[in-house]
Amino acid sequence: MENTLWSYAEQLTPSSRPGNFNQVMMDLGAIVCTRSKPKCEICPLSEKCEAKAQSRQTDFPFSKPKKEKPIKFVYMLMLKNGSEVFMYQRPPSGIWGGLYSFPEFETLDMLQDYLNELGLEDADLDFDENLLFRHTFSHYHLDIQPLVLPVGFLSKVKPAVGEHKKLWFNAGEIETNKVGLSAVAKKLLQDL
Ligand code: SF4
Repeated sequence: MENTLWSYAEQLTPSSRPGNFNQVMMDLGAIVCTRSKPKCEICPLSEKCEAKAQSRQTDFPFSKPKKEKPIKFVYMLMLKNGSEVFMYQRPPSGIWGGLYSFPEFETLDMLQDYLNELGLEDADLDFDENLLFRHTFSHYHLDIQPLVLPVGFLSKVKPAVGEHKKLWFNAGEIETNKVGLSAVAKKLLQDL
């Protein structure tokens, strides 16, 4: 396509005063043949314009087809001890950098392994699919399946990945607690 356009440009650009020609083309595009409202009635090319002849002036240039965003999926685990829910601080870079969120897992096996480590191998993984929701980032959609698991206080509970600060967050303190929460964590705590 690019080669074809270069070929047209070479054929159409006059050898004398090509700079003036280019300036006229740019002015024409900026002032007369604008994208949404071409002023065909004053256009010096209207007699020869194929788009006008076909009444398709606003069809060009084509809009780029919208790129479909990929969809990712995570289970988000909310270990609940009374009104408190276990959270950890996410790494400084990446999504929700430095904010508190819930342990998340890409697969059920990873979630199960994590629960096994906490001695919760018999936990009831009864997912409420009505709670499944989508959070959209600029580059992808994230489908989130929350799982609320009532447990007692777990002293050895840890973030799913790496060593990060952790806390048991009182869901009643969303507005007053100064801890930075990810938008999704806030929503989930509010829905709790
Ligand atoms: S006649 Fe053609 S080139 Fe001129 S403004 Fe209309 S669409 Fe653009």
